[in-house]
Order: sequence, then C-alpha cells, then structure tokens
Amino acid sequence: MFLTIHATSAIVIGQAITNPIGAFLAGLASHYVLDAIPHGDEKKLDGLSLANMSWIATLDQTILLVNFLLLFHYKPHLLLTSAVIAAVSGAMLPDWLTAAHRLSEELDNKFTRVLHRLLDSLQNLHHYLHCRLIPYEIPFSLGLALQLVFLVGLWVII
Ligand SMILES: [Zn+2]
Repeated sequence: MFLTIHATSAIVIGQAITNPIGAFLAGLASHYVLDAIPHGDEKKLDGLSLANMSWIATLDQTILLVNFLLLFHYKPHLLLTSAVIAAVSGAMLPDWLTAAHRLSEELDNKFTRVLHRLLDSLQNLHHYLHCRLIPYEIPFSLGLALQLVFLVGLWVII
C-alpha cells in the first residue's frame, strides 16, 4: 500500500498505544498486515528502472507529507507524541528498507553488498506478505479506491 495509508494507520496506532516501543512494533506489524490485503499496486514497482522507482517514491512521500499537513490542520487535537512518531516510523520502515535493498543492488561496493545480504530475508518476508500470502490481484483502479476508503476511514477515526 501507499506510505500515506501506512503512516495514517500508524497515527491511529500511536494514539491507542502510548508506549513508544509497543507503538513502533505495532506500526511495523500493521505495515505487513496492510500489505497482505490485495490492493492493486503489489507489482507496480517490479521491473521499474531506478529512476522511475525514485519518481514514484518521491510522489508517494509528497502525498504523505500533504496528508500529514492536512491532518494537522483539520485535526487540531492530533498531537505528535513519541508514540505516534514511533508508530509512523515502524509503519514506514519496511518500505524504506525495500528502497535500501533496491539501491544496494545498483551500487556495487563492500558496504552495499553486506547491506543487501542483511536485508535479503526481510525483503523476502515483505515480498511474500505483499504478493504471495493472499495470491489474489485486483485492478490498480480498484486498489486505489480501496486505499482511498481506508484513508477516509482513518481520517474519521483520528
Ligand atoms: Zn510495503
């Protein structure tokens, strides 16, 4: 799913779990749970060039930032607590690690080879949950609508 959905659901988690470590772990788990739900963009990044992937990641991060700015504007009771920050960090970590894994394929030096090997099993888990746990694909447009419904629901809860 898009980072906007992961991060917004993590805000809900950070509001419910006030312990930052628990919030981080719950945010991390939420990423994998949400990614397991068929959502139409599972294979969108497969086979893309690094430049195109960077472009999509930049767009995703920009939408995330706009969503956060709108949330803080329209939800004045929303506090940026350590639990919220921890939950959001945990929820976004798997995709950041995916980016590091992909970048480490492109840059060939001793550090990136070690990093790539360290991230391999996590990336395999991420890919398994994303694509193979529920091997059912929905069209990208339907996935987009589903993610929008999630976002609206999360906005109502926050
Ligand atoms: Zn993911």
